Amino acid sequence: MSRNYRSGLVGVFGCPVDENPTGVMEEAAFAAAGLDYRYITMLVRGGDLAAAVAGMRAVNMRGVNLTIPHKVEVLQYLDELSPAAEIIGAVNTVVNTDGRLWGDNTDGKGFLQSLMEEGAPPEGRHLTILGAGGAARAVAVECALAGAARVDIVNRDPGRGRGLSDLINSRTKSRSDFHAWTGRIAPPEGTDILVNATPLGLHPDVTGKPDIDYDAITGSMTACDVVFNDPDTPFLREAEKRGARRINGLGMLANQGALNFKLWTGVEAPKSVMIETLRREFGL
Ligand code: NDP
Repeated sequence: MSRNYRSGLVGVFGCPVDENPTGVMEEAAFAAAGLDYRYITMLVRGGDLAAAVAGMRAVNMRGVNLTIPHKVEVLQYLDELSPAAEIIGAVNTVVNTDGRLWGDNTDGKGFLQSLMEEGAPPEGRHLTILGAGGAARAVAVECALAGAARVDIVNRDPGRGRGLSDLINSRTKSRSDFHAWTGRIAPPEGTDILVNATPLGLHPDVTGKPDIDYDAITGSMTACDVVFNDPDTPFLREAEKRGARRINGLGMLANQGALNFKLWTGVEAPKSVMIETLRREFGL
């Protein structure tokens, strides 16, 4: 009987990348599912991405994740994009099928899945997103495509904020207003789901929180954070104090990892193993 000693290879290209926890989570999931796959965390500096993607093709990697600073540049090296990745203009996951590279963005899909799992689907709802960077773009586009009625953007940099708002209005059926983030802004009237998509609260400054009027948060709102380390952020604690439901960023991270796992292996991911692994890594 012939044996197959060749492992399925996946991984992440990024810089900095040393503290990226995805590899530990994916490797634990591969082991639990009994799959011979390896996830390698690779330092790929800005300027080296074209060579890294060529290398990925040469050694027949099954796929990669992209993180800072490669999520936008990688588009030019791919053969095909998912509809959401094309609108977002950024890719965090590549699948290599017989040398054909397809890019998707699973950050927003992971967030969307968290909303669904927590019984807060965005369909017909009014979302307000704090921030307009990579995570905010992915979350905003995916929730708009999932049928959110409004996706408002609150951001310091007006160019970036208005750009994301214009994108929602021009490429999706949702409506969007941009709100300049000056002073202690209150979430726009009618907000159902308020999302912190800034890095405020992220390790090591776990005391950081968005400068907003927390007293304007009501018990009918759902507060969500993309920050996963520590997932018990001051933003979520403040919202909870006002009676809001809370959804943390750990679920989003596990969900996007599980989506990537399925895209690469075709097998349903053992998600509880992934969440447990992350909790252990973060000392939770
Ligand atoms: P970016 O640098 O692309 O964007 C950051 C955004 O936050 C910008 O809009 C910026 O505003 C805003 N911002 C930063 N500091 C402040 C501040 N002091 N006050 C107000 N706004 C501020 O970062 P990303 O979008 O890539 O990442 C954001 C967070 O999302 C990170 O914590 C990251 O770890 C997390 N993330 C979580 C994922 C998960 O699976 N849970 C997946 C991906 C990301 P401005 O435009 O004005 O500069």
